[in-house]
Amino acid sequence: MSVTYNIAIDGPAGAGKSTIARAVAAKLGFVYVDTGAMYRAMAVYFLRKGIAREDEAGISEACKDIRIDIRYENGVQHVILNGEDVSGIIRTEEAGNMASACSVYGAVRQKLLNLQQNLAKTSNVIMDGRDIGTCVLPDAQTKIYLTASVRVRALRRYKELAEKGQERSLDEIEQDIRERDYRDTHREIAPLKQAEDAVYIDSSDMTIAQVIGAIIGAAAERGCPAPAQE
Ligand code: C5P
Repeated sequence: MSVTYNIAIDGPAGAGKSTIARAVAAKLGFVYVDTGAMYRAMAVYFLRKGIAREDEAGISEACKDIRIDIRYENGVQHVILNGEDVSGIIRTEEAGNMASACSVYGAVRQKLLNLQQNLAKTSNVIMDGRDIGTCVLPDAQTKIYLTASVRVRALRRYKELAEKGQERSLDEIEQDIRERDYRDTHREIAPLKQAEDAVYIDSSDMTIAQVIGAIIGAAAERGCPAPAQE
């Protein structure tokens, strides 16, 4: 039986998890699994059906009609919602906020748990999310808790949106981030928190290269297979 090597990265919205995890995956030859994208795909389904975020019964019932699959094309993750590639349309603030609101429900989380665990069983993965080190992959060989100050995260999001031509005020983005942090850390099921054995990294004053280096270093200390020759 081959045992895979798993790196779990958790942290709040805008901490830079996906940028960092993608880069680390490329360097180590690992598969990058973005679990937030799966929650966003489910959110898109609920939004399209016009189900209110407060309607737990309606959302739980709708979960039965959802099938989420993950496909990789040239190393890039695509999320498939009932046969439709929704990777492009899940990246809106609306989908992100709906995902945050709906991910508090047990039925939504349960729906994605097996998919996430199976991906980690079959490949060496670096998986990012909110509950990866604590719930999804409690035996991950390396766990990282990646965060940054609210202001720095809001600024990063602001620049990202501006580059896409979407203007929003910095204060509004900061407010959104605070709300999302509150929901993610206070929900009953699988709240965002640092796993006891996770390495804490505050990236507020670090460059992307420094964060990547810190994670690869932490993984190497924990028996991570050396990257394939470049
Ligand atoms: O990371 P991203 O912003 O794409 O995630 C969208 C939302 O999905 C998060 O705000 C969080 O509430 C939820 N999520 C989660 N558990 C994960 C990944 C994301 O609850 N493992």
